[in-house]
Amino acid sequence: TDTPVTVIGLGLMGQALAGAFLKAGHPTTVWNRTTSKADALVAGGARLAPTVGDALEAGSLTIICVTDYQAVRELFGASDVALDGTTLVNLTSGDSAQARETARWAEQRGARYLDGAIMAVPPAIGTAEAVILLSGSEADFEAHKPTLDALGTVTYLGADHGLASLYDVAGLAMMWSVLNAWLQGTALLRTAGVDAATYAPFAQRIAAGVAEWLPGYARQIDSGSFPAEVSALETDARAMAHLIEESEAVGVNAELPKLIKAMADRSIAAGHGGEQYPVLIEEFGKPSGD
Ligand code: NDP
Repeated sequence: TDTPVTVIGLGLMGQALAGAFLKAGHPTTVWNRTTSKADALVAGGARLAPTVGDALEAGSLTIICVTDYQAVRELFGASDVALDGTTLVNLTSGDSAQARETARWAEQRGARYLDGAIMAVPPAIGTAEAVILLSGSEADFEAHKPTLDALGTVTYLGADHGLASLYDVAGLAMMWSVLNAWLQGTALLRTAGVDAATYAPFAQRIAAGVAEWLPGYARQIDSGSFPAEVSALETDARAMAHLIEESEAVGVNAELPKLIKAMADRSIAAGHGGEQYPVLIEEFGKPSGD
């Protein structure tokens, strides 16, 4: 807990990150373009660095959390900012190509670089619920894990710096899919006077049940073989048609089920109607519209 750490970027998230380090007892140096955002942290014991260069010198471990990668480059691009010998942990949201490119750029300038993604809101930072994904050198991760543990549940994904961003968006895809499916069902049931709260626990059991299928389905994807053990894709496609018809009949939005059915139809047209649902990975695995 006496390892010094620097936090650059004190927006809503950066302030939460710096606050968690302070709470865990780390000597914490902070810097933000708008200096006033450091006030509460300074009152809580943080040191405000006068410049980014000074902030970097203060600790061998520097966390960056600003709006986007453009801002990261603007901050560290200045020639008087020496990155040599520092470890940068970039928790700014971005895509995998930006992460890999920034890693090369930082490493060329002598820094060690871990790219990260925060799967949590600021109030959760510092609790186990805050999942923080990191990718880059495993040795660098291990060296700083005891310090980073102050932020939440830190999870190492692999050496490819793009992994944290990819897992991040994969998680979002999962989150929105579950929520959208639930909203579709809720809209349908409300036409019959069933309120959202009544349907929610039922939907929760379905979502949990479906989640149980993932490891088995993953084995089909990884082996590239999709025997219809419980149902064939064409059976699913008939149920999709039913969902679309019911949605239209009761006057609720049918765009989402139509999108899903269009994908299944393409897969069936490609000859996969007799295989199991995860064969759709072949549709998901290529560019849109191909
Ligand atoms: P805020 O808008 O609250 O803060 C943005 C920060 O970036 C501020 O410190 C701002 O400085 C700084 N900044 C932006 N542009 C520049 C620049 N050109 N030069 C220097 N500093 C700059 O955003 P958050 O703190 O909420 O988010 C920060 C990152 O964390 C984002 O990438 C976001 O996607 C990610 N994140 C946020 C979550 C959230 O729930 N808030 C959840 C998960 C990830 P200044 O104060 O001077 O404007």
